[in-house]
Amino acid sequence: MDIFDKLQILAASAKYDIACTSSGTSDNSIGSGSIGSKCLAGICHSFAADGRCISLLKVLQTNICTYDCKYCLNRKSNDKIKRAFFKPEELADLTVQFYKRNYIEGLFLSSGIIGNPDYTCELMIQTLTLLRKTYNFGGYIHAKAIPGAESKLLRQIGLLADRMSVNIEMPSQKSLTLLAPDKSKNSILKPMGFIKENISENSRDLTVYKKTPKFVPAGQSTQMIIGASPETDIHILKLTESLYKKFKLKRVFFSAYIPVSDNSMLPSLDTNPPLLREHRLYQADWLMRFYKFNADEILDDKSPNFNPFLDPKCNWAVNHPEFFPVEINKASYEQLLRVPGIGVRSAQRIIMARRYGGLNFISLKKLGIVLKRAQYFIICKGRKNDSLIIKHDNILKSLMSKKEFDMYKNEKYPRQIDFFEKPKLTHKKEHLWLNFPHVT
Ligand code: SF4
Repeated sequence: MDIFDKLQILAASAKYDIACTSSGTSDNSIGSGSIGSKCLAGICHSFAADGRCISLLKVLQTNICTYDCKYCLNRKSNDKIKRAFFKPEELADLTVQFYKRNYIEGLFLSSGIIGNPDYTCELMIQTLTLLRKTYNFGGYIHAKAIPGAESKLLRQIGLLADRMSVNIEMPSQKSLTLLAPDKSKNSILKPMGFIKENISENSRDLTVYKKTPKFVPAGQSTQMIIGASPETDIHILKLTESLYKKFKLKRVFFSAYIPVSDNSMLPSLDTNPPLLREHRLYQADWLMRFYKFNADEILDDKSPNFNPFLDPKCNWAVNHPEFFPVEINKASYEQLLRVPGIGVRSAQRIIMARRYGGLNFISLKKLGIVLKRAQYFIICKGRKNDSLIIKHDNILKSLMSKKEFDMYKNEKYPRQIDFFEKPKLTHKKEHLWLNFPHVT
């Protein structure tokens, strides 16, 4: 098989991995004369038609796999795909050639498990060592940690890559056992803990010994498949929150399940990926990372799933009138951040601007505040926007389209499909959650 056939197969096999971030990295280029560089803001991104990042060469070392994860195209039992394998020299050479032609700015390397996790790791290490040491490649590298591999091998990868990720895969142990029988919670959380410890140790060492080799300088991330198992949104959010706290992850990526497997335990092949749900999770993740929301403020056991008609921040504000209205001239930065229509930059602008005098609705408009949303939740100098009638339904009508409002009032909620339910849904149109247009 020639190298481009391999590339075609192994790039296609990697397309469900999410790698569209390189934030937080620092320039660890390996000295003068190295090829490739990255700035503090990370590498640039471009996005394919399906919204996935394509600025990295995203590829597998091999799509041969001894594991049989039911949701994965590369699973052992799938005899319908072509298999390929990159020798480390082939992949390192290809990456550098692509880099020199300006096709890519870095490499995202994952792999099926060939032989066993340690052997797979060794192949990845060889590839990355060739890139870093032989080709002097200083560009961005994101490497997947192989669950079950020896810690010393993970450490070697961590010294060669900028970012590592261990995929959590399923939001619960039960789903993991059902759908990825060869993996266990421990085999996923152990390397995550190991990477976290090594990152902390490394940053301590770097404060004393400036020349200490950097270990995973861009931090670690993980990916969770959404919609292939029955967990609620609050369950997923709480897990996400604890992953950030416990393992200091840079990002948790949510990946709407794309049906690739005709299995009775999974949604049928004609099911659309739950993109709206994925989108809501990213919005909620943003609230937790930048707006200091806790998971159980965004959702709770009484409403365990997202409101499909409202983004999570609006939904929270509408359901918590006790926090509003917020006096724009006195509110703290944290209070401002919780107002729909006010983001990080708007809150900063308000704080700056009010030092020079009291703000009113006209000055807020000039500052770029989205008053269409914010006006229901704020007052300026003790007064609300004169023309407004602040009632629950009025707020909802202004935040939703008429069709959405009618569906909301009639409790015709798009609902998240639970593929463990019987009878199994088979027609696309029944999957209301999945077909509902994005509401932002
Ligand atoms: S380990 Fe599981 S998810 Fe990873 S390539 Fe193999 S079958 Fe797919």
